[in-house]
Amino acid sequence: MGDHRRVVLKMSGEALASASSEEALDAVVVERFAREISEARTELDIQLAVVVGGGNIWRGTIGAGAGMDRATSDTMGMLATVINALALQDALEQHGQDTRVLTAISMAEVAEPYIRRRAIRHLEKDRVVLLAAGMGNPFFTTDTSAALRAAEIEADLLYKGTHGGVDGVYSADPRLDPNATRFDEISFMDIVAKDLRVMDLTAITFCKDNGLPIRVFDLMPEGNLRRALSGEQIGTLVR
Ligand code: UDP
Repeated sequence: MGDHRRVVLKMSGEALASASSEEALDAVVVERFAREISEARTELDIQLAVVVGGGNIWRGTIGAGAGMDRATSDTMGMLATVINALALQDALEQHGQDTRVLTAISMAEVAEPYIRRRAIRHLEKDRVVLLAAGMGNPFFTTDTSAALRAAEIEADLLYKGTHGGVDGVYSADPRLDPNATRFDEISFMDIVAKDLRVMDLTAITFCKDNGLPIRVFDLMPEGNLRRALSGEQIGTLVR
């Protein structure tokens, strides 16, 4: 892929939550991710945009399931991602990384609005760009937002960091089926045909249509994020 790789990293909100307490955001975990991002960027010349989820705080389906209006509940989910982005920004800046939070819902007092050309400009100036509030529309997920933003900013690769203990794409759910095997590489077609749950289908078909490869890996083991960003072939490559 050569120098100046431009990549988008999708981090699920739940990855930022504490394993050991009730806190939605664990400062120790956030700090470790920031450190690994900063180490990877020191090792390699990468332009990095991060799309962060909000599932550690709120998910649209929680409210909708309890009878709330879906669009309102989804808006709450998008706002949750802004909280996570600010936490990541703080941690990244403590590691000396210049960062900008860009939000798809404008809130000028807090962050810049997402403007495609501006996002690219920040990347060219070597800033980590944190993309918050998903794509600004209800009924979508941050997985789909990450795919859309990756295409918009012409990223080479979309990293999908998982947190549930599944370190790639398997032939079946490895938590249920002991015979499940992990693919080093798999096609978009096979993901859809075999109904493998990696990202939501909207995100997968979008990546397929736009020729955007995805590397699925486990965010949680220490060092994995740094290894993935550094170009190690961990997890599964979907293309
Ligand atoms: N969301 C939305 N539109 C978007 C992105 C996110 O409505 O473009 C809402 C949706 O309700 C979602 C919530 O924000 O449940 C949090 O995002 P997500 O569930 O993708 O977070 P993750 O699972 O990655 O933590």
